[in-house]
Amino acid sequence: MNEFKNVFVINHPLCCHNLSIIRNKETSAEVFRNAIRRITYLLFYKATEDLELESIKVQTPLEVCDTKTLKSDKEVIIAPILRAGLIFSDIANEIMPFATVRHIGMYRDEDTLTPVWYYNKIPVEFDNPENKIILILDPMLATGNSAIDAIKLFANKKVPQKNIRFVSLISAPEGLEKVQKLYPEVKIITASIDRGLNNNGYILPGLGDAGDRIFNTVEN
Ligand code: URA
Repeated sequence: MNEFKNVFVINHPLCCHNLSIIRNKETSAEVFRNAIRRITYLLFYKATEDLELESIKVQTPLEVCDTKTLKSDKEVIIAPILRAGLIFSDIANEIMPFATVRHIGMYRDEDTLTPVWYYNKIPVEFDNPENKIILILDPMLATGNSAIDAIKLFANKKVPQKNIRFVSLISAPEGLEKVQKLYPEVKIITASIDRGLNNNGYILPGLGDAGDRIFNTVEN
């Protein structure tokens, strides 16, 4: 349990183990990426646990079986925020090969700590927005500003808040509070709620700049 109603922290031993690997500044980019990929499966177990099912009949080699599949009228949309969110999207797409991937391009202005948009692959409007399930992916939920802009993108197209999930590795309490205040029904799935933000909007203790560590662009 934590103080936020719709924030789910995956306190799984394998999450903790792999978080220790990625927090370590000596960890190479290759090992960093692989540890995140292992955590991704655990995050998505939670992020997808309430996808709706429908009953079907299947003919096994022996007899007819009553079984269930994902509801066919729902569309799952995976929305990685570039560039760091890409680390989650391959695995998300591997476990949900039927999903649509809609990239969101924004970076953080380091002076104002506000997101700057440069790209998004989202249609002007959605048919049946109530049938879309959105998984927004970004490893670091820090100030919450990018998360809010990304959620707004879908909420403004009439996707119900309860259909939107935000998947992160590490979150700051300040950002969680901001997002939950504006979008209380959006579920946030994370592997850790850290202590807080520093003056530059970095999460403490955190892991540094996730994009730089994933793509090996850390400048020493
Ligand atoms: N983005 C990052 O990559 N790391 C932080 O700590 C905060 C935002």
